[in-house]
Amino acid sequence: MKYYSTNNKSQVVDLKEAVVQGLAPDNGLYMPEKINKFDASYFEKIDQLSFQEIAYDVADKFFGEDIEAEALKSIVYDTLKFDCPVVPVNDNIWSLELFHGPTLAFKDVGARFMARLLQYFLGKTEDQVNVLVATSGDTGSAVANGFLGVEGIHVHVLYPKGKVSEIQEKQFTTLGQNITALEVDGVFDDCQRLVKTAFLDKELNEQLVLTSANSINVARFLPQAFYYFNAYARLKEAGKLDGKELVVAVPSGNFGNITAGLFAKEMGLPIKRFIAANNENDIVFNYLNTGEYHPRASVETIANAMDVGDPSNFARIFDLYDESHEAISSMMAGDRYSDEEIRTIVKRVFEDSNYLLDPHGACGYEALNKSLASNEIGVFLETAHPAKFTETVEAIVGKGNVPLPEKLAKFMEGERKNIALDKSFESFKAYLQGLFIYSFR
Ligand SMILES: *Cc1c(COP(=O)(O)O)cnc(C)c1O
Repeated sequence: MKYYSTNNKSQVVDLKEAVVQGLAPDNGLYMPEKINKFDASYFEKIDQLSFQEIAYDVADKFFGEDIEAEALKSIVYDTLKFDCPVVPVNDNIWSLELFHGPTLAFKDVGARFMARLLQYFLGKTEDQVNVLVATSGDTGSAVANGFLGVEGIHVHVLYPKGKVSEIQEKQFTTLGQNITALEVDGVFDDCQRLVKTAFLDKELNEQLVLTSANSINVARFLPQAFYYFNAYARLKEAGKLDGKELVVAVPSGNFGNITAGLFAKEMGLPIKRFIAANNENDIVFNYLNTGEYHPRASVETIANAMDVGDPSNFARIFDLYDESHEAISSMMAGDRYSDEEIRTIVKRVFEDSNYLLDPHGACGYEALNKSLASNEIGVFLETAHPAKFTETVEAIVGKGNVPLPEKLAKFMEGERKNIALDKSFESFKAYLQGLFIYSFR
């Protein structure tokens, strides 16, 4: 399969290049040149298949031309060592729980898949591959844990000093092995600048194999289609799709997750329509309603993984539907919620249905609650465990009502190790070249 850049369709590369490069040289996002479809008959029996079996079938449609069946199967099965179940909140609204992975958020799926695919492509070469990732919190933990113990790959996580929560920091500073945490005396933008500058530095790239693991990578976003298929299969298995059409609501920030859902639909998965749920960063909501796309600086909200002012994956949605506002808005509607509204939703659903939403999932839940017709059944993506946002959620539902999952508690016990860096590129480059000795703290 070839992959083209959203900025230039004649700029094509193979899968390996698309994965190693991440972003196309012209700053476009890679798109597969075709989307292989399932026969309609596949969906008649999909309820008889396990999540892993379904995921492999989906992976085969994307990557089957490029990776031998056995290798692809082990990448998929090893990625999905945890389940993505659907759980009823009430009769008609189900939660697709994407928080059963190592860092309790959906990004585990893409990060784990990418780690294993990268190892497949590069792990056999003698050179060590260096993955550079800048994080404001969640991406660093998903990538670090996704790559943990993967041979031949060293992950360097750059994060801003004092700007990530303790639990987030613990999730990438306590791992050891092939993961190094770099605490940068600056803000997130400094971390991102250091990473971008490193990719452009000719000398460094001659000495080291450098790659990124950011969310626009095709190896991170395409595997997110797996769990949409599983949601359909499990609802069918539970007999919930008889006479009902499926509506999916996706709490959206950079729009990678929902784009994977749109791909699933293009592959034939019977989803009637999507709702992209935003917080106050409602750029896409406005686009869907007006046809005008105006990116702007993001504002901080309590659903902070969706605080994005210029969602990068929107370029893929434009491309998928030939930039037609009509086509896009007939496929998905938008919705938006203020912090106050999010708090009200979390509280109400906890009290009425005894289900604890996180601030992101709350937006997805309410988008369904407001709009489902009687012949529709809704699934929203519960993108992270509420305990990842303990302070916020406890303030809403009361102390003691947000139990800390064992996995998160384990991280808290670990010993924090990092390397302190100032925010100059010279220091980062010296670190990468191994010229300076930094002391572990
Ligand atoms: C990353 C993230 C989102 C946003 O997902 P996109 O694919 O960027 O739209 C939503 N919720 C949580 C908890 C996240 O970590």
